[in-house]
Amino acid sequence: MKLVFRAVAASFFVAVAIVLLSWTTYFAQFNSTAYDFTLRLAGPVSPVSPTLIVAVDESSLDRVGAWPWSRDKLARLIERIETGHPRVIAVDVLLDERKSENEDNALARSISGASAIVLATRIASVNGVDRWRRPNERFVQKHVRLGHVHADPDFDGISRRFLSAKISEGRAVRAFAREALRAAGLPENGAFEENAGSADIIRPQAVNIRFVGDNGSFRHVPAWKVLEGVVQPAEFKNQIVLVGSTAEGIDLDQWFTPFAVSGQKMSGIEIHANAIETLYTGRAIVEMPDLLVLLGLWGLVLLFWWVDRRFEGRRFYATALLSIPVSAALSWLLMKYDNVWLPFPPFLAAIVVVLPGLEVAKLVRLNRDLDGKIQRLTVAALYERRRSGSHPSPAQLETRRRILAEIPAGPDRDGWLTALDRYERESSAHDNNRQQLFGTHRHNSRWKLDAVDFFNEELMQFLSFNNAILASIEDVIIVSNAAGLVVYQNPAAKRLEGYSPEPPFAPDYFASLLDGRTFGPLFARVLSQMEPLTREFVPARNGRSFYNVTLSPIARAGVVLSMHDATAQHELNQAKSDMVSLVSHELRTPLTSIRGYSDMLLKYNLVQEKGKEFLTTIIDESGRLNQLIQSFLNIAYIESGRQKITKSKFEIAPVFKDMVSVLGPVAAEKQIAIDAPADVDTTHVLADRLLLYQALTNLLTNAIKYSPPGTTVRIGVANGDGRIRFQISDQGCGIPVDEASKIFEKFYRRANKETLQQSGFGLGLAFVKEVAIQHGGDVLVESKVGEGSVFTLWIPN
Ligand code: ADP
Repeated sequence: MKLVFRAVAASFFVAVAIVLLSWTTYFAQFNSTAYDFTLRLAGPVSPVSPTLIVAVDESSLDRVGAWPWSRDKLARLIERIETGHPRVIAVDVLLDERKSENEDNALARSISGASAIVLATRIASVNGVDRWRRPNERFVQKHVRLGHVHADPDFDGISRRFLSAKISEGRAVRAFAREALRAAGLPENGAFEENAGSADIIRPQAVNIRFVGDNGSFRHVPAWKVLEGVVQPAEFKNQIVLVGSTAEGIDLDQWFTPFAVSGQKMSGIEIHANAIETLYTGRAIVEMPDLLVLLGLWGLVLLFWWVDRRFEGRRFYATALLSIPVSAALSWLLMKYDNVWLPFPPFLAAIVVVLPGLEVAKLVRLNRDLDGKIQRLTVAALYERRRSGSHPSPAQLETRRRILAEIPAGPDRDGWLTALDRYERESSAHDNNRQQLFGTHRHNSRWKLDAVDFFNEELMQFLSFNNAILASIEDVIIVSNAAGLVVYQNPAAKRLEGYSPEPPFAPDYFASLLDGRTFGPLFARVLSQMEPLTREFVPARNGRSFYNVTLSPIARAGVVLSMHDATAQHELNQAKSDMVSLVSHELRTPLTSIRGYSDMLLKYNLVQEKGKEFLTTIIDESGRLNQLIQSFLNIAYIESGRQKITKSKFEIAPVFKDMVSVLGPVAAEKQIAIDAPADVDTTHVLADRLLLYQALTNLLTNAIKYSPPGTTVRIGVANGDGRIRFQISDQGCGIPVDEASKIFEKFYRRANKETLQQSGFGLGLAFVKEVAIQHGGDVLVESKVGEGSVFTLWIPN
């Protein structure tokens, strides 16, 4: 907002300055030239007023004799014209001197015979005093009108306008053209006078002539043809007949006009004809008021400012340059069709001033911005220096001392010392640079560039250091942005089977590098919950290597996939499991024998009373051992992949019913209520029925085991988001957060009182987890110590 306000104010001042500039002489010259140019461009028009010029031209001089002619010739001319009944005869000849009695009489007679006649008068300076040069009194008869014939050229000698009236000796005289129109009884299309009660108020106004063209645009007849009767008097009927000289060199009444391209001046009489035409047609050229020009300029400068902000560069210049022909064309159109003069040079000046002005303003702003940025970075750089201090720093000296003391002499020690040397050299060179740069106080533009270079280099160093860190990591690191576009892969990634330099959609790429499992949902979860997720022992694409895979969020901007090679660990685990399952398997046969023989001993009463007690213990314990082996083998079976998952579609309600009927009595004994939904909506599920049943039973068993009497255990199921969630909640002892993930490990049992009171091997939940994973789902626990736990087992729908 502030910026816009400043631009509006600044452009206003620029516009005012240009308007003031346009008032100076030089600029006025420029404006006048543009005026003539535009008028010429608007082109000639054909005259429509009934104007006819009787011209004392070269041929008339040849024929009749040199100028001035005797007044009786002029008298004859007027008489001849009058016989044709013109509207008016306007004579542009100054008749102020006295000539011979006969001549003057003749002329006076002819004037009195003319029904409407206008004679010329002008102001002349006599001994420094302005006086009207009026015609001889004998000619200024009652019906004779006087009109001033001043052509009033501009400072450059070009006649563009006339004054509607001139005042001298306290007497106002209307322009010759105006008097001719008035005498002819024609309107003059313009308010030049006000009628204030008794007197007319005459305010001389400049009238810009709309020249119809160059010399010879009006109908004219040579004077000699009139004198000799070659021209029919009917020619003059109802005409405004102008009488005057057009011959060059007769007198000084010749002027340049905007149309004088040929370099020829125009005679005064033709200028009057143009003036009459202008008034008759109401085409006087109106000049655009300065206020409007100012507003236009203001708008243009603002427009430039906006265009510059919006389209900096070449497009801005193109637009700016385009405004030159546009303003000239606008000016031309206004002149041609509305007779309005819009001076376009100020607009050109605006372009000339504003273009470099905007550039300079931009430079200044840029510079200031740069200063600010350098200032901020400088503070950081100086802070850095204060931290690093002198070279080598005490810390480095200490390092050197310890290397020498602790590392035995040899290539290793030498290598470290060489690295230390190089590090010291580089950082001291860097510090010297910094010192040189920030030690001076002369901050010219060279210095600014150097400073930018320095920061640039520092940034590059920082980046390459970071790059080197990432490159030296053995783990695979792949970074994707939030759009799923892979933006970085470290060198370790390049060694992967399936590596692509231009990978597809990131989750698909992850899947293709690993065992093909879907990564989309994990990706989504990491991005939305902003918490890392880990999957252990994920087989690689080749099936031989295994990775611990972690997806971590980079705020909400992306996801980092890191893959740690866990093949060795996986093999070890595998070997351990194989070993245990082998041993377990082998244990079953002897165990069966022990149990079988013990049973027989008891059955056939082969031992004494005391021995029977021992036998019962042996049987109980071997039963427990058998159970342990069975549970373990169950898991090992699934894990090894030897147990095939056979999925089928079945209803859930019967599963719940079976569970409750088996475990109900156990719960009842412990005074625990089982709250199963009365009518489970008949949701179907696609799963291995037996495994799912066992897993849910394990969860329910635990809930009963780890809850005190008088509490309730709830089972439920929900369907949504493409998942079926089984939930078993209890009001038991609960599990602390740090153990929540461990309880799913094999043989993990908590060491709390409640657990110790219960028998178990720590295999129940491991089994549940394995079942969930084999179905493509998972099992989670939410719990609060002392309040209870909620186990959720979900599988895809
Ligand atoms: P166990 O044979 O010990 O029950 P599990 O694998 O089923 O083995 O459970 C592992 C451990 O998790 C248990 O020893 C117990 O400490 C804890 N646990 C399991 N279920 C619950 C529960 N519902 N409430 C509290 N603790 C539980």
